[in-house]
Amino acid sequence: MKLHEYQSKLIFAEHGVPIPKGRVAATATEARQIAEELGSRIVIKAQVLVGGRGKAGGIQLAKNSNQAEKLASKVLSMEIKGLPVRRVLVDEAVDIESEIYLGITNDRAARKPVMMASAAGGVDIEEVAAKTPEKIVRCHIDPLLGLRDYSIRDLAIGIELPRKHWGAFNKIAQGLWQAYLGSDATLAEINPLVITADDQLLAVDGKMLIDDSALFRHPELSERRDLDVEAEAEVEARKHGLVYIKLDGDIGCMVNGAGLAMATMDIIKHSGGEPANFLDIGGGAEAEKVTAALRIILKDPNVKAVLFNIFGGITRGDEVARGILAALQEVPTKVPMVTRLVGTNAAEGRAILAKAEMLTAETLAEAAQKAVEAAKGAK
Ligand code: GDP
Ligand code: MN
Repeated sequence: MKLHEYQSKLIFAEHGVPIPKGRVAATATEARQIAEELGSRIVIKAQVLVGGRGKAGGIQLAKNSNQAEKLASKVLSMEIKGLPVRRVLVDEAVDIESEIYLGITNDRAARKPVMMASAAGGVDIEEVAAKTPEKIVRCHIDPLLGLRDYSIRDLAIGIELPRKHWGAFNKIAQGLWQAYLGSDATLAEINPLVITADDQLLAVDGKMLIDDSALFRHPELSERRDLDVEAEAEVEARKHGLVYIKLDGDIGCMVNGAGLAMATMDIIKHSGGEPANFLDIGGGAEAEKVTAALRIILKDPNVKAVLFNIFGGITRGDEVARGILAALQEVPTKVPMVTRLVGTNAAEGRAILAKAEMLTAETLAEAAQKAVEAAKGAK
């Protein structure tokens, strides 16, 4: 889950990272009020979950509250990369001397978080990484030891940060690490971390990604979820307790269990097909859940065939079969369906499906082959 700039910066601030004064506004009038309270030069920033807002006109500097209101109204009517701007952050504008990048993410290969810093901040860090990777310095964080002050010093030296800023930089790096750790983030990034004209370090922009699997530990964060940016089907799936990820292929998959779902996708590819989605309906899937899952799969216009691969353990085969038929009544379709049912009550399940003249298969390989053929035939 992505957090907005203002949300990320508030979390950073809770951990002692200095941020500009300001608040978020949903209307131009509110923006004006905030600007009046701040009584300084203002920066109006579109709160959309995409990068490069500046270039798209989503960041505007205002001299006073009048201008802030006008610019806020303009930015609030914008769409940036297809996303409507529903809120703007109204921040005190700062005089920027230089811009640094500071971020933490997981380095999967190293099995550790890594902190990265660069003196080439402000701009797209992916571009810096691609074109001038030597401008990014890194230190791994041992999860048991935490972030050590000497690691932060190495980063400060690496980006040639003047010594007078080391104290402030250390505090910000530690704050960012605590924010990352405490929120179960997979990314926490300050870009830019600016050195102001009066020699302060300030987090001007913030970005956080939170691990979806850890959201249950952070109810206060899940409430802030911005549904605008997520695929409608994925939001719908989550509502029903399903894990759904849309892919580009044409064979819809409904599977119980994440490992089985991956194996199913592999075997579809092995048989010359392309999966249209990853979908895990979980254990103990009741008819209602199966219906929701099928509705979600069939909403995807690319789907030319559906493969059900159900291993009955906790999930009962007859229950799944009834779920499939109930779903088909609710969402009538000509898309061919292939079912492979094994395990608890598989025979009962297969009988129910055979009666309804649905394609069934005994083995996964056979099921995948049938689904691939069905999808090809439907083209
Ligand atoms: P992004 O383009 O979406 O990453 O948005 P940022 O918040 O990083 O802003 C982009 C750029 O706008 C920054 O790198 C700064 O150069 C500039 N900017 C942002 N806030 C201020 C501010 O308060 N004062 C000044 N002078 N420039 C700012
Ligand atoms: Mn930025």
